[in-house]
Amino acid sequence: MTTPVLFFVDDLAEGVPTPGQSFHRADPAAPQLTVLDLSVTRGDGIFETAGVLQGHVQALDAHLRRFARSARILDLPAPRLDVWRATILAAVAAYGAAGRAYVKFIMTRGIEGTGVPIGWAYVAKADDFTAARRDGIRVVTLDRGYRQDVAQTSPWLLQGAKTLSYAVNKAVLREAARRGADDVIFTSSDGYALEGPTSTVLARFGGTYATPDTDQGILAGTTQARAFTHLEQAGHPCEYRRITTTELAAADALWLLSSTRLAAPVRALDGRAVVVDAETTARLLAALESAEE
Ligand code: PLP
Repeated sequence: MTTPVLFFVDDLAEGVPTPGQSFHRADPAAPQLTVLDLSVTRGDGIFETAGVLQGHVQALDAHLRRFARSARILDLPAPRLDVWRATILAAVAAYGAAGRAYVKFIMTRGIEGTGVPIGWAYVAKADDFTAARRDGIRVVTLDRGYRQDVAQTSPWLLQGAKTLSYAVNKAVLREAARRGADDVIFTSSDGYALEGPTSTVLARFGGTYATPDTDQGILAGTTQARAFTHLEQAGHPCEYRRITTTELAAADALWLLSSTRLAAPVRALDGRAVVVDAETTARLLAALESAEE
């Protein structure tokens, strides 16, 4: 069994004092944070999770770009992406090339009052998603309570940033379980499909694939972007657009896309059966599991 690996990023952001080294390895089984770190006391920080396949980090550039964007939205110091990249690659190399893993990298606002962020990269074995990918998942729609234009009207709500405040994203999974489902698609208060708590929505209408526009306070999915590349290369039209909840319910096929589970077909939406397109799912998974990018 491969054991988890932890590397701290030392020279981690613009305007932060540069220590002697860029990064260092630490013991993931030992305590590393203080109880005053703002990630612990306020959930104040940002993160990314990238898939790792046989020692290759998938879509690392896209994850780093999104990390920097989240930092900007939260008014955090700009992460030094070259140092983050070097740390992530070193951590993944230390982990080894065994099977499927993930690397989660985090930057917190640091200890209250210091203004010095803290960052690390953690690599561990990925969960086994065989059943979800093969059999599909049951999904319920839940109202997020914001309009689809929340990112424009109220940027201070940080919608569309990948923050460490994921208590809501976990709470909705418990609500899904209470409703006999496995996962969630958030909807806006004005009736549009948004995203999953840790995934992007992909819908097929006839021969066209669609995903919700990313200006609706949702994350631009790295897995969805890779899926679009593959689908377009295979000759299928793909579009970003507003998808109403009524349209979502009428989709010919649905998937939730994310970096470690990759593609999970939806087999029920709000208790109504959805056809699982096993052939497209298999093709998508094969493309997403390629170690090319
Ligand atoms: N939307 C949210 C809220 C997420 O947390 C995630 C990933 O965790 C995604 C979408 C999917 O993004 P990606 O495909 O880059 O993993």
